[in-house]
Amino acid sequence: MNFVPSISTESTRNLFNSTVFLFFTVATVKLTHSFGRYLLRNSTFASGVSMSSSSSSSTTNDAETLRHGRILSSKLYFDVPITKVPLIYSDSYDIAFLGIEKLHPFDSSKWGRICRYLILDGALEKNCIVEPLEASKDDLLVVHSESYLNSLKNSSNVAMIIEVPPVALFPNCLVQQKVLCPFRKQVGGTILAAKLAKERGWAINVGGGFHHCSAEKGGGFCAYADISLCIHYAFARLNVSRVMIIDLDAHQGNGHEMDFSNDGRVYILDMYNPGIYPLDYEARRYITQKVEVMSGTLTNEYLRKLDEALEVAGNRFDPELVVYNAGTDILDGDPLGRLKISPEGIAIRDEKVFQFARERKVPIVMLTSGGYMKSSARVIADSIVNLSKKCLIDMRQATI
Ligand SMILES: [Zn+2]
Repeated sequence: MNFVPSISTESTRNLFNSTVFLFFTVATVKLTHSFGRYLLRNSTFASGVSMSSSSSSSTTNDAETLRHGRILSSKLYFDVPITKVPLIYSDSYDIAFLGIEKLHPFDSSKWGRICRYLILDGALEKNCIVEPLEASKDDLLVVHSESYLNSLKNSSNVAMIIEVPPVALFPNCLVQQKVLCPFRKQVGGTILAAKLAKERGWAINVGGGFHHCSAEKGGGFCAYADISLCIHYAFARLNVSRVMIIDLDAHQGNGHEMDFSNDGRVYILDMYNPGIYPLDYEARRYITQKVEVMSGTLTNEYLRKLDEALEVAGNRFDPELVVYNAGTDILDGDPLGRLKISPEGIAIRDEKVFQFARERKVPIVMLTSGGYMKSSARVIADSIVNLSKKCLIDMRQATI
């Protein structure tokens, strides 16, 4: 079938010309936009990609100077007394939205339950938990654009990102307060975790790990790019220039992959199920070390692949900070992750990653990320207790 109309009259010819003009205009705008995004992305390179004109170069420098200024004036890095354990959490992490949170398969109070289990188990004292500050607009602008942040002032956009359609019907002030504020608090936790990890060797943010969000796009329950933000803060404030992201959530971490595309300072090891969301083939090109685990993968095979992957990563890259995205949606029975890893397997997985970092004396930040079942909180708490038993973290610092 041919969809090109025959040009037989003046009016159809004009219509055809207008359509062609419109097509090329749209194409040009899209190309310019894409090129603009390309320049923006590449403006974060450490080694500096040579820019073709001096004006581009000065724009890049201006953007970098602005970013640096924002990071230096941020309040998110504050001094934490030694009596606290580098485990970060706030009651305001948990999302309660007039019962609407029950419509999402995500257990939106898992963060609080992890801490309650740790306290009940006697592994943690409540007053030793570090409470972070909420990331401000200026903090978020370190990575996000003004236009992306403005898009969150529309409840429909937030509803799409968190995959709860009824949220579109609520006034934005309520959405900000009940959904976005908890997320911003978790972002503050992830950013602070890097500072604490540098000081203490490790830090766990009992939240965060929003690995589907990039500078310009949210999705998959991720509204802010906390991993990208955390790493930019570490570059600017912690004298760190090589970061390894170890992303073991069942889903591909397309957000940080887009944000650090071609950035030689960041090594991304991503072990994910390629048959599930987000199926982001563009972002896959930016994974430094890709390990694909198919639906139905069992614990032994998973752990064998992880051993191999960590050995390769350790030989290829010498990080000064590890950001470990420890999603538990690889758990057997998780309807979204579709892998079959046992709770014990998750504890061993976490142990292996902590061993990797601690043996090399590299500070490690752990984020809890995805994990959609009610049982996830128990599994995470058990794994943290196991890390403590294996002396990979020291939860007793608080009693000194
Ligand atoms: Zn996930």
